[in-house]
Amino acid sequence: MISINLIKNDPFLNATKQLDDACQILKIDKGVRDYLAQPNKVLRIKIPVKMDNGKIRIFTGFRSQHNNDRGPYKGGIRYFDPEGGIEYMEREVMALSSWMTWKCAVVDIPLGGGKGGVYINPKKEKLSEDELERLTRRFAFMISEIIGPQKDIPAPDVYTGGREMTQIMDTFGKLHGITNQPGVITGKPISMGGSLARNVATGLGCAYCVREAAKVLKLNLKGAKVVLQGFGNAATFTGEYLEKMGAKVIAASDSKGSIINTNGIKTSKLIEYKEKKGSVVGFPGSKKVTTEDLLTTKCDILVPAALENQITANIAKNLKCKIIAEAANGPTLPEADPIIYKKKIMVIPDILANSGGVCISYLEWVQNNMGYYWSFDEVAKKMEDHITRGFKDTYARAKKYNIDMRKAAMVLAVERVVEAFNQRGLWP
Ligand code: NAD
Repeated sequence: MISINLIKNDPFLNATKQLDDACQILKIDKGVRDYLAQPNKVLRIKIPVKMDNGKIRIFTGFRSQHNNDRGPYKGGIRYFDPEGGIEYMEREVMALSSWMTWKCAVVDIPLGGGKGGVYINPKKEKLSEDELERLTRRFAFMISEIIGPQKDIPAPDVYTGGREMTQIMDTFGKLHGITNQPGVITGKPISMGGSLARNVATGLGCAYCVREAAKVLKLNLKGAKVVLQGFGNAATFTGEYLEKMGAKVIAASDSKGSIINTNGIKTSKLIEYKEKKGSVVGFPGSKKVTTEDLLTTKCDILVPAALENQITANIAKNLKCKIIAEAANGPTLPEADPIIYKKKIMVIPDILANSGGVCISYLEWVQNNMGYYWSFDEVAKKMEDHITRGFKDTYARAKKYNIDMRKAAMVLAVERVVEAFNQRGLWP
């Protein structure tokens, strides 16, 4: 049964709306628009698993393959239980797979868009390691026909990581009689063919985007004030790299609360503090504030790096920043965009700002395929080239069509996918 939540806030419809805006600007033919809107394939599977108590439990899993005109499908596998239930999750992976298509195209990596997952929250339900491994390997077995180094290359996502990626790689390899098949999946531990710089990728990529935006806006990064919402992987490394570029973090938050100190907060000290105390709240010298205060603090760079739907129209009206770098996926509600645009705040949209992760995933896959591994600096430099070009190409579209950066990124991505589609032609 379709849940009310699905009807009210269907992520796939939101994704389609963004595509429609771009198609309108580019005057894309309706048939091509329809082709781009629907995923090529959505696999929904029943996953039977023997639990530790000897009983069988059935899980539901998905793999959505949105588009592969520019290269093999690419995208994460999440273990999650969205509020809207299983039907909602199907729509969510479809939407996320399309965003992966656009994200890869914006930074010009030769991959398409995919996404998948299993409807389970392993943290909430406290699955044992053995149960999780049986689930992961069964899931890998069931998608093994449609994934592969030249077909579809999954990656970690919510509540999955290097351990699950290794189990999927191992299962896939054994099924195909090739024990060592690292290119089938990315986000692996270094010892299994993972890439250096993966852990910092999203934050570093986001910092590169901010640097490019600052150049365009003629904003001096020396002393520029940064606010980080969601002090986790993406935010901490964005903060650290922006600090290295001369900026100063003045506020941060996590699920337990928000803090501010306009004199500056050293990111490395805040990481140490959070590791010890479990939260940023209470950091010496800081003052506790509300989420709204945090987001509307006067600063130069606001980095939403927590959850979706954080910047509402009301928050947007009170924003006092110059750049919003969307490290998180979907942190800004569509109704906030025109308000932000009017205020001349530059938004670096999620598909560009957090594309460092997929860039390094791509570079991991390249290293796996050639069997030769680069140093941290080599990987970071290659990512920098992709992201910097992605930013410049997006900004050029924003100027050309007089549109905001979110629409510009979609326009750029759609242009690139349509070009590949046209080159290929339709066969059979
Ligand atoms: P993470 O789990 O490392 O960090 C998330 C942080 O957000 C945690 O500190 C958590 O306490 C905090 N948080 C949770 N609820 C909050 C709330 N209501 N208010 C403020 N803070 C809250 O996750 P991450 O990997 O850093 O991912 C963060 C965002 O970035 C997500 O939207 C994710 O999809 C996106 N992203 C991450 C990557 C990556 O490589 N890490 C890549 C692309 C996109």
